[in-house]
Amino acid sequence: MTKTNKEKELKKIVDVVRGCRECPLWKNPKAVPGEGNAEAEVLLIGESPGYYESIQGKPFVGAAGKLLEQLLTLISLKRSEVFICNMLRHRPPNNRDPLPEEIKACQKFLDQQIKIIKPKIIVTLGRFSMQKFFPNEFISRMHGQARFVDFDDQRIIVIPMYHPAAALRNGIIKKEAEKDFLKIKEFLDNKETQEERKEEKKEQIELFK
Ligand code: URA
Repeated sequence: MTKTNKEKELKKIVDVVRGCRECPLWKNPKAVPGEGNAEAEVLLIGESPGYYESIQGKPFVGAAGKLLEQLLTLISLKRSEVFICNMLRHRPPNNRDPLPEEIKACQKFLDQQIKIIKPKIIVTLGRFSMQKFFPNEFISRMHGQARFVDFDDQRIIVIPMYHPAAALRNGIIKKEAEKDFLKIKEFLDNKETQEERKEEKKEQIELFK
């Protein structure tokens, strides 16, 4: 799919999220469908929008978002180069944990975004997005470890990380998060995976000529 087509498809998801009434959370100020580069190599998944996110309709714009941007800077990535979204697309009351039925109602949006963007790496931030790929794991055990996951017809590297909000509360976790982020760079710089991706892109372009 060309970049323009990907952008069009992503925009359709934005519209559906904004009109979604599948759980009661839609009543909160604004939907936060996710945003970023349609051809991002890195897709990051948080938990759910907080207060500022639900006012602006954008993911990670509060304090945790500032830290997330700093972590991206560590590996020379700008926010505009990645795609950022959440497990939930509306804010739960008082920032409570997402409920299983809310995650279920929202998961199709994330699945569609992954299928369109075809990222090389998915970074899960916190335990709820980690559990999408590794339901029985613990973040304290799995953070910073990369695993291949077969998703639809793609093989994606998934790296669970601590949530930036946890890093803001705890200096030791912040140090761990910084170390974990450097692993993203290792995988992006890895020649073999780069070549594989170039080949995949060439095939895709030929397919859509
Ligand atoms: N925390 C999240 O998990 N997502 C956001 O968008 C903001 C804070």
